[in-house]
Amino acid sequence: MKLGKLLLLLLFTSTSLFSSIAVLKKATLKNGELRLQFDQAYKKRDIKTRVLKHPHRRVFDIPNARLANKRLDRGLKSSHCRSIRISQYKKSVVRIVLEVDKPFSCEAYRPMFSYMSYHIPLPKYKSKGRSSDKKKKRVPVKKRVVKKKKKTPKAKKEIIKKVPQESYIIPVRRGGSKQDRIVIDAGHGGHDSGAVGGSKKEKDIVLQISKRLKRQLNKRGYTVYMTRNTDRFLKLPQRTKIADRKNAKVFVSIHANSVPKKKRNKIHGVETFFLQNTRDAKSQRIAARENKSVLKGAGNSLSKKVIIDSVLNGPKIVQSNKLAIDVQRRIMTNLRSRYKGVRDGGVRHAPFWVLVGASRPSILVEVGYISHPRERERLSTAAYQELIAKGIAEGIENYLNNRKKEIEF
Ligand SMILES: [Zn+2]
Repeated sequence: MKLGKLLLLLLFTSTSLFSSIAVLKKATLKNGELRLQFDQAYKKRDIKTRVLKHPHRRVFDIPNARLANKRLDRGLKSSHCRSIRISQYKKSVVRIVLEVDKPFSCEAYRPMFSYMSYHIPLPKYKSKGRSSDKKKKRVPVKKRVVKKKKKTPKAKKEIIKKVPQESYIIPVRRGGSKQDRIVIDAGHGGHDSGAVGGSKKEKDIVLQISKRLKRQLNKRGYTVYMTRNTDRFLKLPQRTKIADRKNAKVFVSIHANSVPKKKRNKIHGVETFFLQNTRDAKSQRIAARENKSVLKGAGNSLSKKVIIDSVLNGPKIVQSNKLAIDVQRRIMTNLRSRYKGVRDGGVRHAPFWVLVGASRPSILVEVGYISHPRERERLSTAAYQELIAKGIAEGIENYLNNRKKEIEF
């Protein structure tokens, strides 16, 4: 093997003599590596790498190289780096900068027999922050951020004041109309328990919350359908067909999350998802777990790729995103009015199959982590469940009211 490698090297160094500038065509992230693809062999020996401090950076200078376009690093985001930058440092030097939290050992390499590629392994640890993200967000969205900051504390104060008297006694005003149909999908059921923690099963907790949510929405005047209201298993098409047949305005799927033993004391909180493909590794993991049980019930004829593509770029994504933001916000305000330490996992997007077939604004709420001892106990109580249900109902109401205004004007 060694001799072969040597021959290859010789061959490529000699071919590169004829056209000395290698063009960097593509940069992608895969298997925890930054992978560079050139149009021809490059000189690995000439690549200079070094470490810089404040902030920690690993720099690679690739001589006799040029970028195919200036924005090769666009969209290169990894949870293991603060930022990944690729630039034309000098006329014929391409510079790669990995900004990281702390120094890490990095053995970049040329994969065997792939003489036009260069692979740079990223750190194994997760980065706490992405500097470039913060900068980008701060500049253009300045005005909006200020507005939001002002709104949230006000909203919180109102809730905190209201809660003691309001409790569950004061009737909710009926803002919804009977024509507004909402489908609630309690995840899992029957032989599919979903996540299990302690003696608690996801399928039971989410059904309880779904029933409370139905009552909350009914109180507000909405018509509500449930994909299941007993402990039974539903195939994927059955779940989403109900939403389509009922001509629903909104589809909400309720789930509870879980992580492996090692992390169970650390990870907790509420997350709301809407359907979209994502690079975010965490969202992908959660989606993979939820999809596993759902796909068992999916027919073979279901062409997943086609469906997902048609939904992904549709207008429903914008609406689903808005709905998710409203719901997540209201859940958090409700829970935090009574409970300490509830983590806001935020709004995320992930390719959940259960949302694929629903051709209307659709979200999936992960109400908490059944694997986390404290959160599991809370999730099993009526009071906590009721606050979640109330939060989701308020979020939906808020979304539908805003939607009406959008259509009217
Ligand atoms: Zn689930």
